[in-house]
Amino acid sequence: MKQLTYVPLVLFALFSPIVNLAQEKNADRLLNEYIISIDSAFQRADTVDFNKLIPLAELQSFYQATVNKKFERKAGLHRIIKVQGDSAFALITGAVLYGNSGDETNTSVIYSGIYKFKKINGSWIIAEKLAIDRLNKIKRQSLNLKVTPGAGIIVSDTLTIDVSDPLGFAVRFNHHALISGLTSNGQKLNYLAGGGLLWVNTQLRGIQKIVLNYSLAIEKDDNNRNSGYFGDIFGHVRNQYCWHPFFSFSSANDRADFSVHAEIPATYGISTTLPQQEAVEGQHKIVSAKSDGPIFALGLYYDKEWETTISKKDDIALVVYATKDFRPDHELLYQQFSKVYDTLQRNFGKPQGNYFGILQDRSSGGNGWKNRSNSVIIAAETGGYIITDKPSPRAIFGHEIAHQWTNPNGAATNFLTEGWATYAESILLKETYGDTIVRTFFKSQKLNYINGKFDGHADLLNDYGNSGVSYSKGSWLFYLLQQYVGEQKLAATMSAFSKLTNQSVKTFIAQLNINTGKDLELFVNSWLHSKVIPTLSVEQAKNTLTIIQESDVFIFPLTVQATLKNGKTLKKKIVLSSRTQTVHFDGGTILSYKLDPDDAALFFSK
Ligand SMILES: [Zn+2]
Repeated sequence: MKQLTYVPLVLFALFSPIVNLAQEKNADRLLNEYIISIDSAFQRADTVDFNKLIPLAELQSFYQATVNKKFERKAGLHRIIKVQGDSAFALITGAVLYGNSGDETNTSVIYSGIYKFKKINGSWIIAEKLAIDRLNKIKRQSLNLKVTPGAGIIVSDTLTIDVSDPLGFAVRFNHHALISGLTSNGQKLNYLAGGGLLWVNTQLRGIQKIVLNYSLAIEKDDNNRNSGYFGDIFGHVRNQYCWHPFFSFSSANDRADFSVHAEIPATYGISTTLPQQEAVEGQHKIVSAKSDGPIFALGLYYDKEWETTISKKDDIALVVYATKDFRPDHELLYQQFSKVYDTLQRNFGKPQGNYFGILQDRSSGGNGWKNRSNSVIIAAETGGYIITDKPSPRAIFGHEIAHQWTNPNGAATNFLTEGWATYAESILLKETYGDTIVRTFFKSQKLNYINGKFDGHADLLNDYGNSGVSYSKGSWLFYLLQQYVGEQKLAATMSAFSKLTNQSVKTFIAQLNINTGKDLELFVNSWLHSKVIPTLSVEQAKNTLTIIQESDVFIFPLTVQATLKNGKTLKKKIVLSSRTQTVHFDGGTILSYKLDPDDAALFFSK
């Protein structure tokens, strides 16, 4: 009898995993078939089919856009990472092909990624696309690179990463890169690359080093030189070329310490966009560079005709990488840099870092200050003007220098970079042209906001793609804060904020509160979250004006002016913070009124 009771148990124990295994295999097969049909729909221009297979709005509009533009789409490798009951995780990759491999990479990663699947009524369906940076961190990147002008780069990148994601480690990475090795402690790692994504099947959790070896041929297309162009005389790869791995342009988790060891033929000048030192060894120029704060990606520029000149402003090295005929010349650049730096430092304290580069990028001709890349300002073939009061006041050169004060991450990153640097222009303009220029400057920024057609379409919080709204509306938010808390307290806030290693909108608000003794969270958030600016209407009574916020409700200071029947003009400063607010005027009947007589607020009148 004993044995009989045991037999069914043993049978059950043996039988149960077999059933599970069979079910799992079936689930895998169904999932695999589903993914293959997604791959197929991705390649065809069949929006109906694609939308049926991928019920995610963002992916659907991405797909539609690539179909509309008649871009070629090529499905890449896929892999089922994990199946557990009615949920599963798999990697899907695909490339959108239309030109420069860097631009293609940034487009393709909208599609390529790790997806979560759910089984509903026996069939699999995509539930969501997971952010690759959700649980992992890149702490350090140490790049060893050999640059061959006119051809490409050979790279060995040692990444120190912190892995908490059970689904492995994935990064954005140029889809043309040819990987020759990926190891950890000398052991080969299992990986999959495609569609602008590199996924590593990391078995370990926690902090570890991985070594990625690859080569990358860089395009030489004279009609498409923006993201990456390697000519024989000059060339570059911008960070957006994704020539080394990172997560995204605003992740909090890939801000890393960088060190670079680069080699190029000795006849070339080179900049890693980081503070760097050079030495010539035989036929080669050897550059060693180190970031002076956490950054996520590098640019790389070279030019055979640059003459690199170095001067010192206090303890800051000002290095100009430019040809002999570049204007403004080094002396003028030094003077202007010193002037801007002194003004900003007097207001906002000493920023991080003591290296400042100005670099001539001859790839697109023209003139002007193009952008800022880590420790370097990128100029066009000729630099731009330094500061001007007409037709619209601008201080673009100073704007690029002001970027030295912030290095934020996460939501509203562009408010804290571009909004801040544009606001800093108002400080520099005031220094040169006097107080009245500030009003003209912000009026022109309001016009930029209107002409940019941002109203109703873009908010500051989610401006990850840097649409332009962060410059105009972002600088206005700084200006409104300045009026509300006073210039000195805002300056103290920025001085403290600039010294933080973790700069985010959260730490910005915290510093605002500490340095002003006020709680400005609602104030700031009302401006960051809304896709519009205030629309105000006024109801006039005998002694009162009632101001109504017709669109979203914002918090901001506003001057209300009333002219009484007896000829008196009165001004009242209020802080708007609710849907309707009534302002009282004593001493006579109100004849007429004017909101914001000094053009110090940003709103539409209804
Ligand atoms: Zn800028």
